[in-house]
Parts: sequence; structure tokens; C-alpha cells
Amino acid sequence: MSAMSIKVNPNFRNIAPNYLFSDVAARVAAYTEAHPEARILRLGVGDVTLPLTGRVIAAMAGAVAEMADGATFRGYAPESGYDFLREAVARHYERFGVALAAREVFISDGAKNDCGNLTELFGDNPVFIPDPVYPVYLDSNLMAGRKVTFLPATRENDFLPTPEGLGAEAAIIYICSPNNPTGAVYDRERLGAWVEHALRTGSLIIYDAAYEAFIEGDVPHSIFEIEGARACAIEVASLSKTAGFTGTRCSWTVIPEELLAEGFSLRDMWERRQATKFNGVPYVVQRGAEAALSPEGYAECLELVGYYRENAELIASALRDRDVFFTGGASSPYLWMRCPRGMGSWEFFDWLLATAQVVGTPGAGFGAEGEGYFRLTSFGSRESTAEAVERLRACL
Ligand code: PLP
Repeated sequence: MSAMSIKVNPNFRNIAPNYLFSDVAARVAAYTEAHPEARILRLGVGDVTLPLTGRVIAAMAGAVAEMADGATFRGYAPESGYDFLREAVARHYERFGVALAAREVFISDGAKNDCGNLTELFGDNPVFIPDPVYPVYLDSNLMAGRKVTFLPATRENDFLPTPEGLGAEAAIIYICSPNNPTGAVYDRERLGAWVEHALRTGSLIIYDAAYEAFIEGDVPHSIFEIEGARACAIEVASLSKTAGFTGTRCSWTVIPEELLAEGFSLRDMWERRQATKFNGVPYVVQRGAEAALSPEGYAECLELVGYYRENAELIASALRDRDVFFTGGASSPYLWMRCPRGMGSWEFFDWLLATAQVVGTPGAGFGAEGEGYFRLTSFGSRESTAEAVERLRACL
């Protein structure tokens, strides 16, 4: 086969050849092929296991019935979301004391795509990304040819980078709280310092609240709980982990009217971008999402979260008993553990797979500062989590 003569996006030379979880899957597949008898337990990829809740299912079934009737059938959904869901999301924020207009809420089929697509709104700004963090921010900025500077999240700063020493340059700053993978959560004071920095320097914060529902205690669920954030922040959130929507797909991005740059409204730019490149989330899914955010539906979601929280506590107790340093597990479905005996992240991955047939995620895959760490998730079933915990206790 002869190669074509077209030019490709040269920025693809700057990203790792595989997405982290594809690498993990390939290693597990190779192990399974060599050991077909092995019963592998997965505490790796952050996918949920509990089914959708009763209210969500009932709402979606009702919407399917509407689609089956010519009088109530719907075609293309509005690109930014049906008003009923944009309003339901705005009401959801009242739970945290945040007032939003429905037109500031954009419904989407994933926080992952929105995190990646938001790069299209911006020119060549400096970009600050925590290290370690969800890999999508880095890769999407590299694909867009941006220069990225890392904000190290280490044991010394409680895995919560601060704006100290950043200088006065306007930048795009990513914050993920609760953080994937470390589980670290910003409190009001530390998040306030970022908002203050952004306002002072004319910077924009892209705040990822995908794990907001896991928060325990009096820390912000939304960056808009912080005074001044409406003038410097976009927030991305999702029902994937809150309501078990990883396969159903529904998320949102909040862009306040106040966000203006170079004479452009970021809200209007995003609306324009979505109208051009997105054709909306299915009606049936949006009705399910609306049900998940209703008072009764949200109570059911919090039961799902509570189940995963108990799994996290099971894993945490084993790590505590074995004297392994870890963080997260509270306010987060992730536990971020130090690899024992000075092992590297991928070395421990291979060792744990071979010794206990337990799969986790190597910390190095989330950034250089993740080297020597390992991420375990609480999203498994109770049975498989309990069994994995027994295997961890036996080998750590
Ligand atoms: N943001 C963070 C921090 C995540 O960890 C994930 C998924 O793991 C996402 C966003 C993706 O969410 P969605 O399923 O809505 O695309």
C-alpha cells in the first residue's frame, strides 16, 4: 500500500501513541491470553457497574413510548439541550446555593468531549494543567498545538497545586476537584486562591466537577460557589459517575454570561461551536437525565454513590492495615496509593496482575508526578471489590 501525499496534524507527534486505558487493556489482554484460567479482578478503568436507577429507567421508558407515537415523536434535539433539562440542571445548582440561567447550561453527551472540544474556543494562551490529572486536558491541548505547563500535585501540597509563583500572565488553567486520579478536593480557601489569581491575571479556569456527587463535608461542589468565579470560570460536569450514565451519555458545561474576551462572549462562541459540530443528546437520554436530577431521582443517585463509597472504605481499610500510604477514597471513588517497596507504577501494575490478578491503573499514566503511585477504583461490584481487597491484603 502506498502512503498518501496529504499532510497530517503534526501535533500528533507530541502525544503518547496510545490513550492510557488502551495501554492497560492491551497488557491485561496479553496476560489473559497467556493465563486463560486466571480470574482477573478489575479496579482499573473508572467505569461504573450498578444499573440505572428506577426513576431514570421509568422516565426513559416513558420517552421511548413518546418516540413510538407520531403525535409525540421527536427528531433532532436542540444542539444545546432541551429547555426542560437545562432548567433541571440550573435547579440542581440551587442545591449548592448557585444561581444559573438555563441559557448558561449546555447539555452534551460527555464531559470528556466537552473538555477536549473547549480548546477550540481559545487562541494560543499559556495552559496550566495539574500533574497528575485526567489525561484528556493534556492530550487535547497538545493536539491543538498548545504549550502546556504542569502544576505538580504532590504529597507536600496535599495533591492540591496552588497559584503561588505563577506570575501575572493570562492563561487557561485546568482544575479537577475531586481530582482524578488523586481524589484530592479543593476547600473554599484554596479554590478561592485560584479564583482570585484568575481574576487578577485575566485568566480562565476550566473546572471539572465530574466527581462532585462524591463530595463529603463542607467543600465546594461547584466553582460557582466561590465569589467572583462567574467572571473567570467554565464548569464541566457529568451524570456518568453521579447517575451511572457512562454508557447512557449525558453531561453539561456551564458558561456564565460574564465571560468575555477580545469582544467575544465565550457562551455565545460555545453555542455557535455546538450548533455547527453537534446535533444534540437523544431525547430519551435527556428525559432520563431530568429524572436523575429531580429530588427523588437524585436521592436514588446518592444511593449509588453510597454503595461505591462503601467499596472505597473496604479498599482503604486494607491499605491502612498494610501500612500503605494512600489518599482519596473519601469524597472520591479513587484511591491513590504509593507503590510498595519503591516499585514504579507500571512495574507494580505488572507485579499486581501477576501476583494477585488484580488490575489497577499506573499513576505514571496521569502525569510524571504520578510515577510511583497507583490508582484503585471503588466502581466494582461489592463481591469483586471484597475479593480484590482480600487479594491485596494477602500480597501487600
Ligand atoms: N472528567 C473526569 C475528571 C473524568 O475522570 C471523566 C471520566 O472518567 C470524565 C470527565 C468523562 O466524563 P464523561 O463520561 O461525561 O465523558
